This record gives sequence, C-alpha cells and structure tokens, in this order.
Amino acid sequence: MPRGVIPRQPAKTGRQDRAARQFARSQSRAAAAALARPERGKARLAKKSSKAKSYNPIDPERVREILKRLDQLYPDVTCALHHSNAWQLLVATILSAQSTDVNVNRVTPELFRKYPTVEDFARLTPEQLQPDIYSTGFFRNKAKSVVGAAKEIVSNFGGQVPDDMEKLLTLPGVARKTANVVLGTWFKKSDGLVVDTHVTRISRRLELTRSEEPQKIEQDLMRVIPREKWILFAHQIIWHGRKLCFARSPKCVDCPLENICHAADKTWSTVEIHKGAK
Ligand code: SF4
Repeated sequence: MPRGVIPRQPAKTGRQDRAARQFARSQSRAAAAALARPERGKARLAKKSSKAKSYNPIDPERVREILKRLDQLYPDVTCALHHSNAWQLLVATILSAQSTDVNVNRVTPELFRKYPTVEDFARLTPEQLQPDIYSTGFFRNKAKSVVGAAKEIVSNFGGQVPDDMEKLLTLPGVARKTANVVLGTWFKKSDGLVVDTHVTRISRRLELTRSEEPQKIEQDLMRVIPREKWILFAHQIIWHGRKLCFARSPKCVDCPLENICHAADKTWSTVEIHKGAK
C-alpha cells in the first residue's frame, strides 16, 4: 500500500452491527431447528415401529389374500410327476429327491414299460434297478428304497399302496413328504402338507413360518392354511417356485404377491423388507 493512503473505514451507521445481530439470531434459530429435528425423526420412527408391531404375517385376512392370488395365478395345478397309478407316483416321488421332475419324467416311461407292476419291482435286486434310474442321481439309495418299498407292499399290503399315512411311513425311503404327495395327489387325502424345497423357501419368504425343519414347517402351515386347501396350496407353491419365486433372483417384478411379500431377498420391492423373511 503506498505510503500515506489510509484504507477507507466502514461508516458508523450501525448497519453492520444490525446485520451481525440478525446473522447471529438466524444461526441460533437454525441450531435450534437442527436440535429439534432428531426428536421429530424419533417420533416418526416410534410411530412406524408401533405400526410394524401390529403387522401379523399369519393374520387370516393376509393368508386369505395369498390363497386368493395363488388361485388366480395357478387355478388348477397338480403334481408334475407323470404317473398312472399310486405305485408309479410313489416310485416317481422317491426318484425325485435331489432331482428335477423333468429328469424323473424322462426316466419313468421306460422304467414302467420294463417293469409294469409292483410285483415286477419286488422281484428285482437294488443292483438290477440301479442302471435304469442312474440319471436321477443317488441311484444306489433310490434303488434300495424302490425295491424295498415294492417288497413291503407285496408282502404286507397285498400289492396295493396303502392310503394311510402311518402305513406309508413304514415303507423304506418314504418320509412325510413322499407320503403326502401320494395321499394328496392320488388318494385326495389331506393328512398333511407336502413340504419340499420350494414350499420351505416360499412359505418362509411369505412369513407363514419361521421354522427351517420340514416337519415344523408342515405343522406351521397346517395351522394357518385351511385344511381343504392343503393339497392345492402345496402344488401352487411348488409351481410358483418353478415359475417366479426362484431360490436365486426371484422374479418379484412379475409376481402378483409382491405387495404383500416382505422377503429379505426380494429383487424388487414396493413394500418394507423384513430381515427375518427369507
Ligand atoms: S415377491 Fe418375490 S420373493 Fe415374494 S413371493 Fe413373489 S417372487 Fe417370491
């Protein structure tokens, strides 16, 4: 700065002081608002959580809505395993473990042409049957189960597949899932619900159960699904698992259950996600 030049001093009009006071006041108002905001957020959260507490996934109205939408989506679906009698269905169901229905349907026409009756199977050794069912996987165990079941049916049940849960469960390789398939699909008896991998996954996603064990899942579903729907519901859910609700990357965007499904692993959602629903 050249010597002798004095910088201009602000005029003493009091405007600066007023502006400073206004600025300080506006700052303190902003600080007060910022302090109040978390309170408002907390209140909103509390309101939300009280709403979440009132949500009941197994509310009969919600379950009815799920059933209604499944009926619209899969009006008359049934078991995808090809069969023409109870024995063939039993064999196909045993073979379907850890395999696909498509794969089993490829094997069974030739199998039942080669061995048309339960007596034909009863005369085999498991080793003789193994090559015929090799492509369904786990063929050694499956051959043992099929031949063992045939022998039991011929010797204890007069060659007829029993239409009774307890008796079916005495057959080798037959657990509740297989028994429920045969009872529901062939004999039209609702003694329980088929719980396979699709039913397990989807009923957990839809929060109809929190269990992981098939037996407990079956019990949970028997409590919330009306008995007259047990057979159809299981088929519908199995079809849903094949068509849309895949294990990986379910097609939620195309799913008619989307706005009532809160599954944690949804690929698209218009509703709140529930971490436990998976
Ligand atoms: S919305 Fe998605 S996760 Fe839920 S049932 Fe449908 S496909 Fe499955």
